[in-house]
Amino acid sequence: MKLDLTELLTVDGTAKDYEVPLDMKTFLPRGSKTGYPVICDHEIRLHCLHKTKREVEITLEIDLSLQIPCDRCLAPVNYPFLFTETETVDCNADEASRIVDLNEQPFIDGTTLDVDRLVYNELMLYLPAKVLCREDCKGLCPVCGADRNRVSCDCEAKKEGTLSDQLSGFRNLLPED
Ligand SMILES: [Zn+2]
Ligand SMILES: [Zn+2]
Repeated sequence: MKLDLTELLTVDGTAKDYEVPLDMKTFLPRGSKTGYPVICDHEIRLHCLHKTKREVEITLEIDLSLQIPCDRCLAPVNYPFLFTETETVDCNADEASRIVDLNEQPFIDGTTLDVDRLVYNELMLYLPAKVLCREDCKGLCPVCGADRNRVSCDCEAKKEGTLSDQLSGFRNLLPED
């Protein structure tokens, strides 16, 4: 959702609260091919303060979840993001000088604030390296792919079985004493 800040920028010291829906339905982390569904029941709340000379302080309240697959068993986990973040933007700066950090998507264009991009940048900052469905998740069996939290396959036992079979076969080759 894009927000027009023209009115806010007319007079210094103007403050405004906004509630805007998030358009982003899937969050695609930078450099990743897997998108995470966005679960957002509330509108995004923003408090904008036009400090002076088109410099705006934006306080952003984020309260949403991303459905991130468990690092071990791939089950979807609702990972909550609940935080408030403040950013200051200079609405005088042109696009080129504003993109100091190449990792950031530009979220302001003239007097238009792109709330989705702003939220995206914040989520990138707080994205966990990995998510587990539970601390002791047993993960997927590397042999048959079964979810070891739900079923117990006998792949491990079989592997050990073949190993001891091989050992006993080997023992048979040894001369008896
Ligand atoms: Zn898991
Ligand atoms: Zn298995």
